[in-house]
Formats: sequence, C-alpha cells, structure tokens
Amino acid sequence: MAYQHRYLDGSPLALPAGKIVCIGRNYLDHIRELNNAPPETPILFIKPSTSFSALDQPIRLPGGRGSCHHEVELAVLVGRELRAADAATARRSVAGYGIALDLTLRDLQTELKQKGYPWETAKAFDGSCPLSPFLKPEALADPQATDLTLRINGAFRQQGNTGQMMIGIFDLMAHISTHFTLLPGDVVLTGTPAGVGPLHSGDELLLGLAGRDFAARVG
Ligand code: ZN
Repeated sequence: MAYQHRYLDGSPLALPAGKIVCIGRNYLDHIRELNNAPPETPILFIKPSTSFSALDQPIRLPGGRGSCHHEVELAVLVGRELRAADAATARRSVAGYGIALDLTLRDLQTELKQKGYPWETAKAFDGSCPLSPFLKPEALADPQATDLTLRINGAFRQQGNTGQMMIGIFDLMAHISTHFTLLPGDVVLTGTPAGVGPLHSGDELLLGLAGRDFAARVG
C-alpha cells in the first residue's frame, strides 16, 4: 500500500510524502553506547520518500545485509517551507508529531564508516522509516519534554525523553534549513536515545509517544 501521511484518526493529511532529514547523534547516552564522539556540528543525512512505511504495515528487513537495528525517534512533520529559518519559525511550521524507526543496517554502516564512505545504503533503503500517524501539534503538551519508548516482545529496549536531546527540535530544524530547504510534507527525525539493537523476523513492537502506544510487527 502506498504510504500517505495521516492523522491519528486515520484521515489523510493534504501533504505529500517528501524527504526525511535525520540527525546521526543527538542523545549523549546513544553516542556513548556506539563509542562515538559527540559531534561539533550535527551529522545530517537524508532518507528518500521511498523509505516511508506506515507503522501498521509489516516491517520488512533487507535480507543478507547483516543486522538491522531499531532506532526509535520523535518524527516532526513539516507543514510550511523552511529555508534558513529561525527556531521560532520552525516551531510554527510543524504540522504534526509522530514516532518513527530509523532502521539502520548496522554491520553495513560500521563497514562504510571504517572506509570513510557515506552511509546511504545502510540508512536509506526502501521501508527504512516505519512511521506512526501524526498527532496534531497542539496534542503534544511540550514536544521537548516527551517520553519515547520502544518495547520488543514485551520488554523495554529504548526509553528516553526528548528533553535529553543535545540540539532541541526547533534549533535542529532551523539548522537543517540552512543546508536543505524543508518542504511541506518533509519529515525530520530527531535522533535516538540509547538501547539500539537488532530486529528479528516476527518481533512484536510497541512504540510509545507521550503515553500513546503504536503497535508494529517485523514481517
Ligand atoms: Zn537515528
């Protein structure tokens, strides 16, 4: 089924599925678990629109390319064009908040990093961004103080709060917009807290955003 941005009640948003702009390292506890150094400037990368997959559809793991890790992240839907915007303008441009998985072929990414190559094939494959429906912006009391959780087969694997981000949501969007114009329908992924690990066929996932749970399943 073709992906379309939707609200929680299932109604479609009149916004195209654009690009997905992601930040590589934005939670200190996750940087430490991968033995990375905190970046001096944000490490940005893009997933194409072919990465979108609705969370209620089975998650497909690419076969034969090593481990595929979950990274649970707050997703921000852009409603208005942002180019070299400030943080206040970025905040006003938000059309919705959701929860996403930044799926990562970790073995491949490690190999690419060691060679000094770009990460695209490890991060931007088809279906690499399973995404929930969106809450309207006013539904999230404080987007910068929101709990994010991921349970797999009943066990908590990732538990964070958006208050732990090193670069806040709107500063991040403003920074991104100095490099890439953000268009209506684009999505920003804001980084993952600690606890990343491999997914397996048949895993039952529960992604939690501000106390709401979204179920997903690995096909
Ligand atoms: Zn990520």
